[in-house]
Amino acid sequence: MNRIISRGMAVFSRKLGVNGVCDVVEFHASPKGVELAGREGKWLPVPVEYKRGRPKENDADSLQLCCQAMCLEEMLLCDRIPKAYLYYGETARRTAVVLDETLREKVKALLVEMHELYTREYTPRVKPGKSCNACSLKDLCLPRLYRTDSAAEYVRKRLEESL
Ligand code: SF4
Repeated sequence: MNRIISRGMAVFSRKLGVNGVCDVVEFHASPKGVELAGREGKWLPVPVEYKRGRPKENDADSLQLCCQAMCLEEMLLCDRIPKAYLYYGETARRTAVVLDETLREKVKALLVEMHELYTREYTPRVKPGKSCNACSLKDLCLPRLYRTDSAAEYVRKRLEESL
């Protein structure tokens, strides 16, 4: 076997100040990989992120994937992970994402900005779009709140829906 699959793997990075869960991490047999308990040889971690929808026009999914890889590199003290994969349910295709320096720098810059916002206790307005429909965070983010004119109008509409 030249591939080991781990699902729902928790990851974190002290340097970046983030944690999360990878949908899937594949460990590919590679001399550049790391040793795994109970396995012979070396294994390079390769995150694979599954999305229900289709590829987005922005690079949000690639950034999330790159961040997962950076967490894995730090956790496992392994070489740079050169590429990882996004899988989209609507197209049923797996797309390789090259984890280059540009993408890595953007991940770092966005996380610095995120921590600054958190320290200032400021919640930026979200930009609802088509991708909200397939987003796993939509019940937390509540993007429809931003489509209404006021909190009072939102409450009125929800009350009408429940009658
Ligand atoms: S639900 Fe929120 S987090 Fe998800 S895509 Fe929409 S705005 Fe972004």
